[in-house]
Amino acid sequence: VLKVVENLGVSYVRGTDLYKAKLEVELRKLKFPYKALAEDDYEARRKDHISHFILRLAYCQSEDLRRWFLQQEMDLFRYRFNELSGTLMQKFLEHVNLPFEAIGEDLKNELANELCASTPGYNMSKVKEQMFYKVGLADAVDLFRARRVFIKDGFAYVPFKEIDAIVLNTYRTKLSKALALTARSLPSIQSDERLQPLLSHLSHSYVGPDYSVQKNTGKISLDQIDALSVKSFPLCMRQLHRALRDSHHLRHGGRMQYGLFLKGIGLTLEQALEFWKKEFIRGKVDADKFDKGYAYSIRHNYGKEGKRTDYTPYSCMKIIMSNPPSQGDYHGCPFRHSDPELLKQKLQSYKIPPSGITQILELVKGMHYQLACQKYFELTHDVDDIGFSLNHPNQYFTESQKLLSGGRELKKEFNNSGNFQQKNNSQESINSSSTPTSSNATADTELEGLEAYFTED
Ligand code: SF4
Repeated sequence: VLKVVENLGVSYVRGTDLYKAKLEVELRKLKFPYKALAEDDYEARRKDHISHFILRLAYCQSEDLRRWFLQQEMDLFRYRFNELSGTLMQKFLEHVNLPFEAIGEDLKNELANELCASTPGYNMSKVKEQMFYKVGLADAVDLFRARRVFIKDGFAYVPFKEIDAIVLNTYRTKLSKALALTARSLPSIQSDERLQPLLSHLSHSYVGPDYSVQKNTGKISLDQIDALSVKSFPLCMRQLHRALRDSHHLRHGGRMQYGLFLKGIGLTLEQALEFWKKEFIRGKVDADKFDKGYAYSIRHNYGKEGKRTDYTPYSCMKIIMSNPPSQGDYHGCPFRHSDPELLKQKLQSYKIPPSGITQILELVKGMHYQLACQKYFELTHDVDDIGFSLNHPNQYFTESQKLLSGGRELKKEFNNSGNFQQKNNSQESINSSSTPTSSNATADTELEGLEAYFTED
């Protein structure tokens, strides 16, 4: 749900009718009880409450996560609050102990002149049609300071359109404090072995298709990789491929990220061994050293050594959230881990138009890395709307191939349905903020073990 909120928040102007309509469609698809006080679905509301508190635990762990979580929760809250009718709004305010009370018609008529004179942008007829709330001065300090509200006997008379700002502010302060408090109690929670694995994976977990089993296996030839890297690889993999071709070597973080991606797009074990060997022996590694030091780890990647686990390619969240690259590394997500100036130069060299680069850099600045990558997809594939919610580099590749082979008409699909998300987006959108499946969680744990095999630089 929060992923959808993020997506729409950067694609449309928040609060506009279009934004609200899109959000409503998406929330309905996800069966999210967005009209909390109006809907009787107790089970759905219960799930919403529980998942909110689980996400608090998972997203309190770093400044970045907290900021992201706060932003999406605030947007969702604003939408839900504004969707309530006057009576439900009043009920909500009582329910959360916010002592704001809508004043009656008699009092409003009595104060009409003062309300009109003290509330900027209000004339008499607007005063008559709008609800005003009686709010303790302490809660309306900002309005009072800006002389935007009528004050009498220690109370501010706040028009409806300003009350949501006060409620939102209160919510932000409370949620922010709650996240800080939760972060403080994390050490004791993390010592609970039932919760610890869940919490450490939740914020960057992924439960979409794992791309480890490919219908494509063996359908891609090694000769095609250079061309594919330009046309259909996401920037992270394009960067790794370029670095490998240039320096005939990748350090272990890069080999893991790129090796599993290539496996996901369909390279067989034999092709992978040939691909890496050919490249490495053009550099400082001779054939013998490659067979001894690197071939084992490639077979391991394909589940042919060690625990014989079929390892899954990394999702965007895993790449973005874990193992940041250091000097000399090429793995990671360029939108997350590159210096903006370098990213700009890279995009220029890939002939992305200046306006597109500005849009991408804006998204990066707002920490919307996957959305920046979606924009890169749109610009490199010349489509107006990507039509899916990006969560995985292999998904990027698959969608690109579908599009380039004419298997999908993005613009047409968008126009016909009037819906900018792809049909299966709802599932994929939950993915990045939901619990990992046990198989993925196991794979993650086992990957930690696998990394031990990549000792050679
Ligand atoms: Fe790669 Fe995902 Fe970053 Fe795109 S958003 S560059 S696919 S990690």
